[in-house]
Order: sequence, then C-alpha cells, then structure tokens
Amino acid sequence: PVRTRIAPSPTGFLHLGTARTALFSWAYARHFGGQFVLRIEDTDVARSSQDSVDQIIASMNWLGLTYDEGPIYQMQRLDRYKQVVEQMLEEGKAYRCYCSPEELEAMREGQRARGEKTGYDGRWRPEPGKVLPPVPSGVEPVIRFKNPPEGDVTWDDLVKGPITINNREIDDLIIVRPDGVPTYNFCVVVDDWDMKISHVFRGDEHVNNTPWQINIFQALGAPLPKFGHFPIILGDDGLKLSKRRGAVSVTNYEELGYLPEAMLNYLSRLGWSHGDDELYSREQLVSWFDGTHLTKSPAQWDPAKLAWVNSHYMKQADDAQLAQLVRVQLAKRGIHAELPTLQAMAALFKDRCATTVALADWLAMYFEPVTPSEQDLATHVTEVVKPALITLAEKFADIEWTKAAIATAIKETIATHGLKMPQLAMPVRALVCGRVQTPSVDAVLALFDKEIVMKRLRNA
Ligand code: GLU
Repeated sequence: PVRTRIAPSPTGFLHLGTARTALFSWAYARHFGGQFVLRIEDTDVARSSQDSVDQIIASMNWLGLTYDEGPIYQMQRLDRYKQVVEQMLEEGKAYRCYCSPEELEAMREGQRARGEKTGYDGRWRPEPGKVLPPVPSGVEPVIRFKNPPEGDVTWDDLVKGPITINNREIDDLIIVRPDGVPTYNFCVVVDDWDMKISHVFRGDEHVNNTPWQINIFQALGAPLPKFGHFPIILGDDGLKLSKRRGAVSVTNYEELGYLPEAMLNYLSRLGWSHGDDELYSREQLVSWFDGTHLTKSPAQWDPAKLAWVNSHYMKQADDAQLAQLVRVQLAKRGIHAELPTLQAMAALFKDRCATTVALADWLAMYFEPVTPSEQDLATHVTEVVKPALITLAEKFADIEWTKAAIATAIKETIATHGLKMPQLAMPVRALVCGRVQTPSVDAVLALFDKEIVMKRLRNA
C-alpha cells in the first residue's frame, strides 16, 4: 500500500517548501487510497519546540492536509534507534570512532593540502587484519556506519529520474553523536522502515543524503522506498525564498488574508501541472495527482499569480465564511463589527478583493472616518453639485434606509438639480467612501449607518 509522510523539523513555522512537499505527499497517498503520516524530527533538541509543532499542525489543518498517523516524535523513539545501533555494532555494520574534532580537522586539512576530496578517512573502520589505534581515554566516541567501499548506489528518482552515485564518493556517516543522540540520516531510515513508508518525497536539499540512506536500508535488510526530490522554490527575485525578503511560512499567508483553498491550489502548481489547468478543487487535485508531470526545474514563487488565484476563491467563497475571516482582519485594526453586517458587506465587495485583508481595507470605511483625496474633492465635489448634496442629505433624513429608497432619493435629486447620474454619484462616493471606484452607490450606501452618510455629505 502507498504510505507517504512529511517529516518537518519543529524549528519554526511551516515553510512554504515543506508545505508543498506535505501537499504532494498527502495528495499522492489520497490518490492511491493510501496513508499519510506526520513525523516530527525533533532530535535537534536545542532548536526544536512544542510551539513550533503546534504551528506546523495548525498550518496543516488550515490547508486541510489530514494525516492518518502521527504526530510521531523522534525523541520518543530513542530506544528503538539505540536497539538498531546495537544490532549494527554487533553485526559489524557500524563501529565506534574516537577521532576528536581537532583530529578530524587536521585530517581534512591534510586532504585539502594534497588536493584530495575531504571526508572521513576510515581510520577507526575495522577491516580484517587491520590494527586499530589504541582507544584514547576520556573521548566519547561517535558511531559510524560502515558504508560499502565501492559499487554504485542507484535509484530512479520520482522527480529527477535515474541518479547514480559511486560509494567512493561518500564516507562513513556518523549515525550517533558523542552525546548519544542519533543523526538525521540514520533516524530517517529506521523511521521510514518502521512506518512502512513506500514513497519518500522531500526537498532537493536531501538528494545528497539519499545514497547514505539507501545503503543503511540495505544494511538493515529493509525494503527500499521510492524517493522523489522536489526542486526548490525560488522567490520572484530568482533567489531562494527567504524570510528576509518576504513571507515564507503558511502562517504568514493566512495572516495576509489568503484562503486555504487558494494556497492549496497555488502551491500544487509549483512543480506540478495538469495540462493547462490553473484553478481546480482539492478533489480534482487528488484525482489527478499520480506522481507524474512533476517538474525538474525550480518553481518560481509568483505573488501576482497567487493573488489572482486567491481572487478566484474570494469570489466563490461563502459570505458567512468571509464575514468570519474579515472580522478577524478588522479586529486587528481595532474595528469590531457584527457578523450579519459583515456578511452583507462581504457579499457586495468580495468580487473586487484579492484577499480578506483587501476586503477589510474596503470595509473600514463603514466604521472609521475616511479622507477623500484632494484631487477627488477638487474634481467631483464642485460648487455646482454642493447644493444637490445638501438636498440629498435632506431627503435621506426622511426615508426608510433601504437600497430602493436610496436609489429613488438620488434620482429625484439629480432631476431637481438638472444633473447627470455620475455628477452626483461620484462626489457621494468621494465624500462617503473616500474613493470613487465602488460598486453601485445605492448598494454601498445602504450598508452604512444613515447618520454617518448624512454627516459625510454635509461635510461638503
Ligand atoms: N526533517 C527533514 C526536513 O525537514 C526531513 C527530510 C525528509 O523528509 O527526509 O528537511
């Protein structure tokens, strides 16, 4: 059966790259009716935190990436790793190495001086007939994997195609550090084996680790999963996405007012395609995602396209759902509004907003004073229309505050003053909304508090 996993290190928020890997792993498992596992790689104790685990899980939930098992914490599996290490030591598949950091540095320096590739030279590696150095006292050893000395490691990468590395290129990997904590490349193999992972998807930065991992799988007599390495995501500046140059976590985008369906849709197009399709549902993605049509070249993060995708989902979004989201955005600005009110407003404005933050920008005019630009005032609020604005304000005082009654009052006013519709509508927009491009003016006004409208008109 297909079993995939995502194995984040809990050292921060869920990064977009990891989110994309999670998304593809999840979609692949769902497509084939398999399982998707969440594993927390927390062996870097100093940098890991429960707070980060919580953030990662919240982001996965937000995106709707449901997992069938987990979270499984590596730090809770130390006994199991220890057991495997003991076994490997016993079977001569791993050995203790007592080189001090200084000794290793000297080794590398010598190699560099001779123009050789740097790496562990195998001085503690037991071989038949070889005499090992005397064990120094007071040195905590590391444990190294006895890598095969020659031959090729080959796998058919699900993204990159066939890859071959000669064992002479790789040295004997440290699998347990002096403090007794096993290393990533070792834990990952024991975990993927124990968790019966059939397909390992991860970022490009791990390609160089895969030959070691394959050798360890083989030493353990464990069945090999298939591997797929996704190219990195580049920022719109062509450089690796980085915190310093913009939003890089799923949480950031949630805060910036993007919808989870849009993020899922957009992320899935980074390194994968289904013909020319750009907009599709979660269900379509799952039905299409069979591990083909994955791209080898780096994907580029395109904020304009993400905004476009999000606009699409904004238009489709349920008004009640948008009301909830925009309420949160408005609350951040100290504006507190009722859901039914916000729902009606969302319905009117969602078509012109790329994000819920943009929607909040629109709705703020209902709750806070507006400042029309000098130019709009000069262009639209002319001496000619001022009397009409007063008439309109007076009419408003007497009517029932509905869209239809507002429309009638406007029509009567332009008739009385001999104006054309835009001659009145534009100054009303400028004064009441603080901007002149809005949906139909009667609909916009109907959602205001009547007193506010009259006051802003009289300000003219
Ligand atoms: N903890 C590793 C990472 O976040 C996992 C790599 C893997 O999937 O094997 O990059």
